[in-house]
Amino acid sequence: MTLRTTSLPSGLIAAGLALLAACSPPRADTAPAVLVEPAAQPAVTASDVGFSIASPIACELGKDCLIQQYADHDPAKGPASDYTCGIATYDGHDGTDFRIPDKIAQARGVAVLAVADGVIAGVRDSEADWEVGAYNQSAIPSNMACGNRVFVLHGNGWESQYCHMRRGSLAVKDGQKVKAGDVLGMVGQSGWAAFPHVHLTVRKNKVPVDPFNTSSACSPTAVTSLWQASARQQMAYRGRQVLNAGFASGPVTMDAIERGGIPAPTAASPALVAWVRAINLKAGDIQTLTIYRPDGKVLKASPPTPLDRNKAQYMLFTGERPASGTWRKGTYRATYAVTAGTKTVLYHEFALNLP
Ligand SMILES: [Zn+2]
Repeated sequence: MTLRTTSLPSGLIAAGLALLAACSPPRADTAPAVLVEPAAQPAVTASDVGFSIASPIACELGKDCLIQQYADHDPAKGPASDYTCGIATYDGHDGTDFRIPDKIAQARGVAVLAVADGVIAGVRDSEADWEVGAYNQSAIPSNMACGNRVFVLHGNGWESQYCHMRRGSLAVKDGQKVKAGDVLGMVGQSGWAAFPHVHLTVRKNKVPVDPFNTSSACSPTAVTSLWQASARQQMAYRGRQVLNAGFASGPVTMDAIERGGIPAPTAASPALVAWVRAINLKAGDIQTLTIYRPDGKVLKASPPTPLDRNKAQYMLFTGERPASGTWRKGTYRATYAVTAGTKTVLYHEFALNLP
């Protein structure tokens, strides 16, 4: 039995119907074609400050990892705006959180990379990583919030800071010279980290600068970026995204998704459940999760209910018991769609083959 997690990489969803049509083989069943409204992209201009940076993480954004939270561009206490004036941030956040899908990815190892040439300063590698379900911010003093971390000094007052790295994974020492793209260590979950990720803060003369938009004000239309041209496409703005999706043989929990490796159902499973965890959903968004039988008919669809408030992450699952004792052989497909008003703003498909 194989579990194809997706037939449409989430990073490509925003490209819309043309891409969907090009990527999907002709089908005889009844799943609808979906026109996805792309996330609004501000026009990006390269900064002229004489400093540019590469990606801090060795994964493909939108596919193997994603951005959970950008820096807050709203100086007021309480409200928060990411650099496009969107919701993918929280009050006072001074950097960017690059998130990996689950603890399996953390254990396998996803490298944290120097964003520019520089010299290492301020290495810490002794803090434990949180286990799933154990996170307790109040147990960590604020001076240790960054957990295991590295500072890189780039000259002319520029520095970069990488937080929450995996204990024992640091690959550099104080005073060592590094080049852009050199491995500093691995993504972890140490310090104030509710999930495995690397937090990147870039500073000029000790003042945080958001590499996505060097202006302190947010803008949905035009921004000035520190990203090198080669990183620009990967760093395109994404708000709502699917972090994980799959099938299970019963109800799932957020902790089980976070651990990773949820076993797929078999023909003998007592239930067939499709599940999704999405991030940065907005109040009023309506999610639908639908499972299709091998003959293309709907097996089960979740009731569409609007979200009462913004959700940094949200888990949804739906499922059914077999009509007879076992499941019919064939390919079961699931579709997950998020609509805002009349527009579909996120769409994801995945399939399960029961041989
Ligand atoms: Zn952060």
